[in-house]
Amino acid sequence: MTDHDVARLRRDFPILERRVNDRPLVYLDSAASAQAPRQVLEAVDRYRRRHHANVHRGAHTLSAEATEMYEGARARVARFLRAGDPRGVVFTRNATEAINLVAHAYGRHRLREGDEIVVTVAEHHANLVPWHLLAAERGAIVRGVPLGSDSRVDHDALVAAIGERTKIVATYHVSNVLGNLQPLRAVADAAHAVGALFVVDGAQAAPHVPIDVAALGADAYAFSGHKVGGPTGIGALWMRPEVLETLPPFLGGGEMIRRVEVDRSSYADIPMRFEAGTPAIGEAIGLAAALDYLDDVGVEAIWDHDRALARHALARLAELDGVTTYGPEGPDRGGIVPFNVDGVHPHDVASFLDAEGIAVRAGHHCAQPLMHALGVDATARASFWLYTTEAEIDAFVDAVARSRAFFAPLRTAL
Ligand code: PLP
Repeated sequence: MTDHDVARLRRDFPILERRVNDRPLVYLDSAASAQAPRQVLEAVDRYRRRHHANVHRGAHTLSAEATEMYEGARARVARFLRAGDPRGVVFTRNATEAINLVAHAYGRHRLREGDEIVVTVAEHHANLVPWHLLAAERGAIVRGVPLGSDSRVDHDALVAAIGERTKIVATYHVSNVLGNLQPLRAVADAAHAVGALFVVDGAQAAPHVPIDVAALGADAYAFSGHKVGGPTGIGALWMRPEVLETLPPFLGGGEMIRRVEVDRSSYADIPMRFEAGTPAIGEAIGLAAALDYLDDVGVEAIWDHDRALARHALARLAELDGVTTYGPEGPDRGGIVPFNVDGVHPHDVASFLDAEGIAVRAGHHCAQPLMHALGVDATARASFWLYTTEAEIDAFVDAVARSRAFFAPLRTAL
C-alpha cells in the first residue's frame, strides 16, 4: 500500500481523528483490538435503526430481515475462510469462546485418560487454559512444544511431538507476541496421520493474512470480530461440518433444540445446535461488514503493509541503545513488535508513550509461558494494522528513545 492508499483508508476510521493528551492519537494496539471503519459502524447502526428483531423464530417482516442478514453474515464468514459450507460456522462471543466450544463439545467426549493434547509454548492463554481444564477433567496430558533457536516455535519438534496418543493439536496461525505466521500444513498432516483434531487459533491471523481452512488442513479455526475491525462480543468458530455434526451441544437453551419435553430434549442440526439463546445479531452483521472491508482493501496488501512496518520498526528500534525487541526477523514476521527498555518496567514505558498520545500495550500479553521462554515477565508491544503509517512508527520510536532518557536518572538512583 502506498502512503496515499493508507491516508485514504485512514479517513474511514473516525477514531483516528481523536487527540489523546493533547496529541494526535497514534494507535499501536491493534493486536489487542483493532479500530472499526465507518462502514462497520454504519452497518450496525443501520441494522439497529431499520431491521432489528429477534432471529429465526418470528413470522413478521423485521424478524425475517434480521434472520436473512444474520445468516448472510454466516455465509460471509464462510467465504472469508474459503470454507464453502456455512453450516460449519458457529457464531461465538470471541476466539476464546470458540476454542472452549471445541474443548467441551469435542474434547470432553473424545478424550480418555493418558491421551495427549499438543500445544506450543507460544500460545495465547485462550489456546492453553481450555485444554488445561479439559486435561484435568479427562486425565489427559498437555504437551507444550518449545521455541527453537531462532525465536520461532521449533517446527520439527512440533511435528515430532504428535504421536499415537495425540488426540488434539492446537496452535496459533499468527503469534500475538512473536508476530510470526506459522507454517501449518505439515502439522495438520501429522495430526491427521494419527487421527487427531487440528485446531487453529486464528485470532491474530484473520486481520492480516488470507485464510483458506482447507489448504491449511484445519479441522477447526477460531477468530474474533474485534480484531478484524468488527464489534466486540462476536467471534466465530469454523469446524469441518462432518466433525461438527457429530458433536453434542456445548450450551443448552432456546434456538439450539429440535424438540423439548419436560424431562428430555433433542437438538437442532448444525450450526444452530451450538448457538443457544439469542445471538449477537447486530454484531454478526458488523463482523460481516468488517470482512467486506478487509476483502475490499485486500488481505495480501495488508500483510505486506504490516511486514514493511515491522521491518521499519525493528530496524529503527535496533538503532537505540538499551532497547530489546523480541521475535524472529524474516518474511514471516507481521506487524507485532514486543520490546523492552532496559531497566524500565514496560507499564512505565507504555504510560510515558500514552502521555504523548501513543497507545501501546504492556504486560504478559496473555502468554505467560512464552514470557518465561523469552526470559522476561512482561514486555511493551506495538502492533500495526492497515491504517498505521511509517510516520507513526517514527513518532513511536522517537518517543521510546525519549522514555529511555526520561527514566535513566531513576534507573541510576535504584
Ligand atoms: N488468540 C490470540 C493469538 C490472541 O491474540 C487473542 C487475543 O489477544 C486471543 C486468542 C483471544 O481473543 P479474544 O480475547 O477476542 O477471545
